[in-house]
Amino acid sequence: MLIDAHAHLDFEAFDEDREEVIKKCQDQQVKVINVGSQLATSKLAVSLAQKYEGLFATIGLHPIHVYDEEFKVEDYQKIIGTNKNIVGIGECGYDYFYLKEKDKSFIEIKAKQEEVFLKHIQLAKDNSLPLMLHGRNGETQKTANIDIIQALVDNDCHQGLIHCFDGTKEEADSYIQQGFYIGITGIITFTRKAEALQELVRQLPLDKMIINTDSPYLTPEPHRGKRNEPVYVEFIARQVAELKGISYDEVVKENAINCKKVFNI
Ligand SMILES: [Zn+2]
Repeated sequence: MLIDAHAHLDFEAFDEDREEVIKKCQDQQVKVINVGSQLATSKLAVSLAQKYEGLFATIGLHPIHVYDEEFKVEDYQKIIGTNKNIVGIGECGYDYFYLKEKDKSFIEIKAKQEEVFLKHIQLAKDNSLPLMLHGRNGETQKTANIDIIQALVDNDCHQGLIHCFDGTKEEADSYIQQGFYIGITGIITFTRKAEALQELVRQLPLDKMIINTDSPYLTPEPHRGKRNEPVYVEFIARQVAELKGISYDEVVKENAINCKKVFNI
């Protein structure tokens, strides 16, 4: 069973044909974790998970949105209730790439992202749920992963996925040591700028990797340039298999085992 561990079918990019895209997932037996990045998309991810077999949800406020709306823990706690289809908290973490607030310094923005991230960590711990992490470096600020790992260590967090990892081997090892899994996306299928990540995939143990599309973004080859969708997770699995010199079936099987361990799906 193929699993796409991180997609955004709750985004407006799917407003026109969401049902069709979901139907395709069901027909091809692809399970999907839809990830909220604000309160509205979190709620939609949850309602999709309630409505459709094979869909699950995580809820949270993406670090690029921390100035767009307030992260009120009670709102998110209310959604969790007894909802079994919520399998994680996030996406949350640090994003130093989209520092939109020009009137604020990096220190201020980082402090705000940290405040929100720590609330996610607490929410995850209170509900015994894993974290769906996002970390992205900026042009000059290169410590997104280091800062996330520090927060995980400080807060004794041991379960979750860094969904689109693009850091160093040392950073990947630190996540793994902390109990986290390394998220691999369609970037590994790109013909340019993917060498470092491809090398990382060769080196990482298969039992610590989880593949995910980040739909509608990061569309893998051979569909690059078009909108991404969860069924394209197949192409990421095929590329992992090729890079590691193992069978496609083995990648699919191990990915499902890893998703079960982290998200219990
Ligand atoms: Zn995402």
